[in-house]
Order: sequence, then C-alpha cells, then structure tokens
Amino acid sequence: MKAVVYEAFSKPPRLMNVADPSPERHGVVIQVLGTGVCRSDWHGWKGHDPDIELPHVPGHELAGIVAEVGNDVTRWKVGDRVTVPFVGGCGACAQCNSGNQQVCHTQFQPGFTHWGSFAEYVGIHQADLNLVALPESMDFATAASLGCRFATSFRAIVDQGNVSAGQWVAVHGCGGVGLSAVMIAQAIGANVIAIDISQEKLDLARALGAVATLNAQCVADVTEAVLEITQGGAHVSLDALGHPTTCFNSINNLRRRGKHVQVGLMLADHATPAIPMSKVIAHELEIYGSHGMQAHRYGAMIEMITSGKLAPEKLVGKTISLAQSIDALTNMDRFETAGVTVITEF
Ligand SMILES: [Zn+2]
Ligand SMILES: [Zn+2]
Repeated sequence: MKAVVYEAFSKPPRLMNVADPSPERHGVVIQVLGTGVCRSDWHGWKGHDPDIELPHVPGHELAGIVAEVGNDVTRWKVGDRVTVPFVGGCGACAQCNSGNQQVCHTQFQPGFTHWGSFAEYVGIHQADLNLVALPESMDFATAASLGCRFATSFRAIVDQGNVSAGQWVAVHGCGGVGLSAVMIAQAIGANVIAIDISQEKLDLARALGAVATLNAQCVADVTEAVLEITQGGAHVSLDALGHPTTCFNSINNLRRRGKHVQVGLMLADHATPAIPMSKVIAHELEIYGSHGMQAHRYGAMIEMITSGKLAPEKLVGKTISLAQSIDALTNMDRFETAGVTVITEF
C-alpha cells in the first residue's frame, strides 16, 4: 500500500510503498477514505511524543470502510463504514472496565503507538470495543474530522464540562478544537465567548454561534474582559489551544466554583504551566482534562449531527491528496488554515 513514512524526526516524510497491514485476531484493517491532518501529527513528527518508534506513519483522525476482519471480531464485517476514537482501549484494564477507554492504561493510538492513517490501509486493535458505525448520510471527510478535535470537544463540553443552557462558556483558542467547542456549547444552549488573536477565526466563531468574541491582542487583559462580559466570570472555560497563557487565562476568568477544561495539548516546554492555584482554592474552582472520547459515547454526538443540531462539515476546510499531506504536515506551524484539512485522495 501507499503510505506517508518518516524515518527521522523533523526530516521530510516520503510517500512510499510498504507492506499492507493484516488484522490481529481481535482487530480489523480499515481502508482509509478520509483522514485529518492535525497538530498532534505535527508534534509527533517533530519528536515531541515519546511513544513514537521510527520509521513511522502518522494519522489518527480517520474514517473508512472495513477491509479485513480478525477471527475473534463479532460486531463488524467487510464493507462497514466506520470511524475510531484517537485513543482505543485494550478492553482488559480497570479504566476500560469502567467505560473510560479514553484513559486506558495500555491505550492504542493509531499514528502514535502504532502506524496511523496517512496510508491506504490501517490496522485497528480491539475492533469490537473501539469501532464506531457511521450513518450513511455522513461523508468520510466529515467523519474523519470527528475523530480527534470534534469528539474531544464534545467530551470537554458535555461530559467533563457538564455545560447546561444559559451558562457562560469561554473558549480560548479558535482552531479546530475551539470552533468545535463553540458549535457544541451553543447547541446545548450556552452563551459562548470565543477568544483568539485571529479576527478571521473569531468571525468564524461568531458564525458558529458565539455571542461574544475577544481579540486577545486588542484587549489589555483577557481575564478582565471575560469577567466583565459575563458579569462575574465563565461557568465553564476551555483552553482549546494548549499554551501557558491560554491555560492561565482560562482558569483565571472563571466565576466562583467554575470549571476549567484543558483540551489543548501541553507538550515539550509547555508541559508544566503556571496556574493561579490561590484562586483555585479561594473560589473552589475545578480543573479537568479531556482526552478524546470513548467509542460508546459517539452515539450521542452522532445523533446531534444527524438531527441537524451539530454540523461538523462546516469545520472541514481543504481536502487534499495523500501526496499533498507531506507539505500540509511539515508546514503546519507556519500556515495554520481555518478549518480542518482532510486527506481524501489516496
Ligand atoms: Zn484498557
Ligand atoms: Zn488530532
């Protein structure tokens, strides 16, 4: 099969012919028909992820059809249209047993712990536990865009943030994760305030339902501005970027007993940011992480999509070919595009 392979970190990947994967007894092989290009793939390629062994194939936001099925798989057959969460569970640890496959002790992450989906085919472990059926009405580019940013935002807003109608929700950073969060929070009935340094992204956030936007470069103090607009602070606030500044602001702009949800990754130099812990104590703030979403929670999200309440296809930006993905990946830090870039030609 064709695959995008890198043999050294930060060196240009190459489009190569490599051996086709074969399914494990409990796994499947998926023919990839859509796969998103994500900042996590860029971090992996830069060498920021200790799980990656070289040579490596990136890609974790995938959708496609089941091409081969292992002998022990009971729920899936060749031809099924599927996607997978970016964290797959082992099915045997305490977290998996409690339904929290997103924090499995021995988790499977295509494109990180194993070869990923910048390829014609990808092998997936524990298919009965980790695959998600796609409705016929959903195209593969849209389905691929659910796999990481949209699903993570859904969990952050719905399950971790427990957002309810009428609450103020602040979203710091309006890339793919942040814009997804804006759409999901407003669908639930929250008042969303979106914060970014790009007017283009703020305009997109407003089009997706944010009731207020803040350009962090145009206000003296982001925290003060949020406290003023929300008359006391956000009930729930997300750092959707993953940066010490947005993390700090997201905690600092909460109202008393508010919740911060860290969604953006904090890697390398940013792994241990300073946070206003005195305020966390005095105001009884809550701090959560959000790390993907379990396959069994996708049903709730997909129902909101098929009913028309959520429209993730609005967040798909460009569709590109597998060959073009090399430039898209390696230039990710330089040309951040609005919307999610998805590989749809293999
Ligand atoms: Zn597990
Ligand atoms: Zn991703």
